[in-house]
Amino acid sequence: MQRRTFFRSTAVAAAALSFPDRHSFAELYRAADQQPQDLAAVTGDGKQITLSSKAIADLRARLRGRVLLSADPGYDDARRILNPSFDKRPALIAQVTGAADVRAAVDFARENQGLLTAVKCGGHSFSGQSTCDRGLMVDLSGMRNVRVDPVARRAVVTGGSLLGHVDHEAMAYGLVTPLGTVSHTGVGGLVTGGGFGRLARRFGLAIDNLVAVDVVTADGQLRHASKDVNPDLFWGVRGGGGNFGIVTSFEFRLHPMQRQVIAGSIRYPIARAQEVLSLYADYAPTAPDELQLDVALLKPPGDAPGMASFGVCYSGPASRAEAVLAPLRKLGTPLADDVGAKDYVAVQKSGDISDPRAMAMYLKSGFVPQIPAALLKAMVDGFRGDPTRYTQIVFVQSAGAISRVGTETTAFSQRSAQANMLGIVGWPNGSESAQHVAYIKQYWAALEPFTHGFYTNDLDMTSLKASDVTDNFGRNYDRLVATKTKYDPRNLFRLNANVKPTV
Ligand code: FAD
Repeated sequence: MQRRTFFRSTAVAAAALSFPDRHSFAELYRAADQQPQDLAAVTGDGKQITLSSKAIADLRARLRGRVLLSADPGYDDARRILNPSFDKRPALIAQVTGAADVRAAVDFARENQGLLTAVKCGGHSFSGQSTCDRGLMVDLSGMRNVRVDPVARRAVVTGGSLLGHVDHEAMAYGLVTPLGTVSHTGVGGLVTGGGFGRLARRFGLAIDNLVAVDVVTADGQLRHASKDVNPDLFWGVRGGGGNFGIVTSFEFRLHPMQRQVIAGSIRYPIARAQEVLSLYADYAPTAPDELQLDVALLKPPGDAPGMASFGVCYSGPASRAEAVLAPLRKLGTPLADDVGAKDYVAVQKSGDISDPRAMAMYLKSGFVPQIPAALLKAMVDGFRGDPTRYTQIVFVQSAGAISRVGTETTAFSQRSAQANMLGIVGWPNGSESAQHVAYIKQYWAALEPFTHGFYTNDLDMTSLKASDVTDNFGRNYDRLVATKTKYDPRNLFRLNANVKPTV
């Protein structure tokens, strides 16, 4: 017997003697879970209901993953999302492991009078859409897998995956699909809402690179959708958010790309904000698609000074980078300039938050069709840093390939914007929040008249009116309603930029 084989079989035999077999191990594991009792819960439309212990036990029996109740180990970790402002307590959490579990969880919610249902992938929803009080959280974090086919240039990504997983696997073959800018954001939420990122001006939004999806719809069916199969569902999922069901699998088109990009930031003192913004307004609309150029006014908490900063990612030929970036250097010596050749996957992680739950956040956002001087003036005049918070106003550049897709080709309708403007405040979790939220609302009141529509992934539920969603989807709204009515007639999936069915 070979030495390695001997070692392996001895280890397996020893393990068999000391541990219960897989089945009884699972039993022990389950015994550690809180025994189900009847639970008070709430339906999507706010009706108080009771979930019977039998129904909960049946759900446990149907899942390969776990069902967590409030006293179970792991419940507190699982219920949390990125923004600690939303500290909610679902009645139960289904930690699904695949499409069969997702179907069981959806059946459970539907059969229990339309139990309030939240779907959590990366948990990045600024407005807390992936959690709820006294409802069901479907936790997709047990569904994280990426399979790349380098020959067909396709990636099949399971519905709970994070962006970094896709970048890592695809770049191993010199391939990419355009996703967002923070690697621990969920594919599920980012992609169904649209998906802006460092390569979107070159390759389009994440949804523009989707080839097919598998979706568990409200009736518990697993449906494939592509341009040829269930095309209405495929259309709606591309920009309609989580309205139509839970996507268990995304298939993306991949593009060849060099591993190194020219990226970093160029920072000037906040006193030069007006010049920095004006230069941006002149240059950004004419910049090549390979350049993603963002600009921000920001003030970190504490003593650190405020800054006006360009964020750069150039993915075109390195030989052209200097000429492309030259206009940004017209302003003379900056405070800091770390733009240089960098590994794309590392750049994609450069904005990751090291202690994600330490900072509570509030955000206002809207698309800007043009960048007039009056908007820049309002941005500068109203910007107030404060040592007790993080303060930022930023333009995330749009246009390029994003604007070359028709407004009605996908459900995402905001194709002609120059940028997505976001006003963000963040403060240490647990400290006084009202003054920061009040500040950004007041600042935003002067900026909002320059916006047209908003990115549904940056939803602000505190001031959202139903008509905002209608207006935002514009000419696509009626088709969204028809699709919603067909696939989710009772509005089971309502924690999102909700499209109301007409049943
Ligand atoms: P979650 O909070 O888990 O879910 C958000 C919503 O998506 C919920 O309504 C949920 O029901 C739905 N959902 C989640 N998974 C699925 C699924 N598999 N099927 C159906 N519905 C699902 N956006 C960009 O476009 N580009 C960026 O660069 C970018 N950067 C960001 C950086 C940070 C730090 C944060 C907090 C947000 C950022 N966003 C960005 C916004 C981001 O796209 C949204 O917050 C998005 O909803 C996050 O997806 P998630 O899966 O992490 O969120």
